[in-house]
Amino acid sequence: MASTGDSARYPETLGEGPAEGTDASTADVFVAVAVPAPLPEALTYAVPPTLAEGLGPGFRVRVPLGRRQVVGVVTARLDAPPDGVRTKAILEVLDVEPVLDGEMLDLAAFVADYYMAPIGESVRLLVPGTLPPWGERRISLTDAGALAEPRDELDTAIRDYLLNHSKVRLGELRAELGLPLVAPRIAELARAGRVSVEERGGGRGTRFVKAVERSPGDLAEQLKACGRSPKAKSVLEYLDALGRPATLRDIGQQVGCTSAVVRRLSKLGLVREFTQPETLSLRRHRLETSTEAETGDPGIVLRPDQETCASAIEGGIRQGSFTPFLLRGMTGSGKTEVYLRAARLCLDLGRGVVLMVPEIALVPALATDVRKRFGREMAILHSNLSKAERHQEWERIRRGEARVVLGPRSALLAPVRHLGLIVVDEEHDSSYKQDKSPRYNGRDLALWRAKAHGAVAVLVSATPSLESRYNANTGKLAPLVLTQRAGHGGLPQGLLVDLRKEPAARQSGEVLFSGLLLKEIRDAADRGGQVILLRNRRGYSPVLLCRACGEDFRCGDCGLPMTYHLRGHRLACHYCGADQRAPTSCSTCGEAALEPMGAGTERVGERFRELFPDLAVDVLDADASRRVGGAAAVLERFRTGETRVLVGTQMVSKGHHFPNVSLAAVLSADTYLRFPDFRAVERTYALLTQLAGRAGRGERPGKVVIQTYYPDHYAIRAALANDDGAFIEQEMEFRRTYHYPPFTRAIQVLAQHKDIDRARTVLGRLARDVLRLPAARTLRVLGPTSAPLERLRGRWRFQMLLRAASASLLRRTLWAALGSVPAADRSILSIDVDPYDLM
Ligand code: ADP
Ligand code: ZN
Repeated sequence: MASTGDSARYPETLGEGPAEGTDASTADVFVAVAVPAPLPEALTYAVPPTLAEGLGPGFRVRVPLGRRQVVGVVTARLDAPPDGVRTKAILEVLDVEPVLDGEMLDLAAFVADYYMAPIGESVRLLVPGTLPPWGERRISLTDAGALAEPRDELDTAIRDYLLNHSKVRLGELRAELGLPLVAPRIAELARAGRVSVEERGGGRGTRFVKAVERSPGDLAEQLKACGRSPKAKSVLEYLDALGRPATLRDIGQQVGCTSAVVRRLSKLGLVREFTQPETLSLRRHRLETSTEAETGDPGIVLRPDQETCASAIEGGIRQGSFTPFLLRGMTGSGKTEVYLRAARLCLDLGRGVVLMVPEIALVPALATDVRKRFGREMAILHSNLSKAERHQEWERIRRGEARVVLGPRSALLAPVRHLGLIVVDEEHDSSYKQDKSPRYNGRDLALWRAKAHGAVAVLVSATPSLESRYNANTGKLAPLVLTQRAGHGGLPQGLLVDLRKEPAARQSGEVLFSGLLLKEIRDAADRGGQVILLRNRRGYSPVLLCRACGEDFRCGDCGLPMTYHLRGHRLACHYCGADQRAPTSCSTCGEAALEPMGAGTERVGERFRELFPDLAVDVLDADASRRVGGAAAVLERFRTGETRVLVGTQMVSKGHHFPNVSLAAVLSADTYLRFPDFRAVERTYALLTQLAGRAGRGERPGKVVIQTYYPDHYAIRAALANDDGAFIEQEMEFRRTYHYPPFTRAIQVLAQHKDIDRARTVLGRLARDVLRLPAARTLRVLGPTSAPLERLRGRWRFQMLLRAASASLLRRTLWAALGSVPAADRSILSIDVDPYDLM
């Protein structure tokens, strides 16, 4: 079967073997099933009578697909198959209750339609791959179940069968009993504790253990409060020494006491007991969800401008109908305080909250604030959690135990109940856009979801995207503005360095630290301040060059120079991830004349240590986040002041709050400006403004140094002068003149193939088909042309950008043209609606 690189795969390993459909001739029930294949729509399957009972939308089913068996999700129940379609039968129902409700299925349908993505892929987005299929689980009778009085015939049959058999699969139970509605009844009995359901692998996962942690507070005081019980004191001392929660079992073994001692401590409020799945490590649990130590509202009184914004948002929440806002205010102006207060109201009114940040690295900081207010009502969802943790959080959300969900764009896809508020912090950030199919934008989807639930959406930024500003101007978003800055209030002072005038620029070509910057770093350090240096490129140097023959070590698949990493002495392709040991002499001419050209974060860090040996420096970039401890450890060292200087990629410019930073500098503001992308200027402006926001957040006044070869560029001027109006005016003018979003809507079509001619002709043919349609008169078609990255991962890339005033017209036209593209050709095309990455 043809499949694109994007095609969906459900993670469950399914038994191979011939997928004989059960006899479909007797079926009178049919279901539409979204399957993991690049098909635009769900497929119809027949449901054998034995499986029909209780089956509806949102259940996972195992179905034959070609010669494979796959797991799909039922999207609808049908009374008859579409005319003339020969249906196969589903093989098994994997769930006892739907994993997706109607709202989530609507969301999946919208994503598939709007982003022109296969329905199977968009459904898969919403069903975490960590969900174990019920069909694999084993059901046993519990003691309570054995003793309980059966309610009816079904109860009796289940009990009798399970009395004689343990660890029974749902399918077996269903087949043996031959009674209707077995699955929903099992779900009910499991909730009542009358049957136990174990997941695969010998019952790990759903087995719960009792754990205990010491309550926050002074140990000596707590020991006194124990009275004369030496055992109780030992338990507290043990927990204190451990520094994390312990299981009841461990305490029993280590301290040699009974659970009665722990219960007494718990009554005295000296420890807290909780249960959690055995598979979760206790340390993680503490980090992510517990710590009542920190709970309690910080009791901040909002300033009048904050109050106005918060009341407006709260008004929308009280009304309970879709209200979208754009909350703008410079970094440190107290936007977070505003939306957290609105979140409080939302919870009080019984509705759920989703808080989104663009990157995982920003989760911990916000989590601390959120936990203070909402404690265990908070759930965190992101891809760095273990499978068990993600599964647990998702279940807590689905059951309504956790009502505030925090995370990157995927948090939006959580099955939050009665959603009342969605906050998209740093809404301008391109990380909200998913770079593989379905290529949805978390910010835009947030608006859709809020609308579907009658919820309030708040887009938040110091530098809102042009799209959102445009929507605020045209009344689609209600603008809210914070005018003051929290803390001492002053804006950082901006200093511009014209690199053309640096003496060193003439000699060596690249200046990392201008004279002015060196002086400012020394100054800031002497006054006890911390420094942030932005270098938007990781690794040691972007090119390793042989000075004898000019060889520059390109990636064989992408044709682009590989980045040299001094750490580990490696060459890495930053586009495809290829990675190899760096040579010590040139592989072409044999000379040992290899020289790193240019500088990434690693080299800047090294150069910094030479220049300022007395200042402790750390590097924060994607490489750092992959190492042990990761970005969190780097940020923590900087927060505590252990490191004085932080060098990093744009990761350093986002969202962090470091009151002691008095200097922020960008070593070259030009990195983005030169990109062939209509958003290059907007990105540069946002980056510089965000960076400026890092400096002077506490009591000390801050400074920002911008080094550039384009000192007169309007984005740089405006960022420096904090003149938002001037930037917007010029940038809107540029977008309007050249018909770029937000004045038009765009779709990018990319063709990729190993064979350059194939990629070119497939896209060329599509372009001709588009232009032949009547609607083509109202479209602007750029290309087809080779993409700026013309070869990536061994595939040649051609692209075409379609623009029109209306998004739906654009999508309809492209759908129409795609209708005549053969499946094999279709599979080398990827479609990006509202694209961000035009490379
Ligand atoms: P933003 O989200 O706009 O960057 P935050 O909401 O994180 O700003 O606020 C920055 C800092 O100022 C935080 O430490 C916050 O607790 C504090 N702060 C915000 N509003 C107030 C206020 N009204 N009174 C006192 N401190 C405030
Ligand atoms: Zn490569």
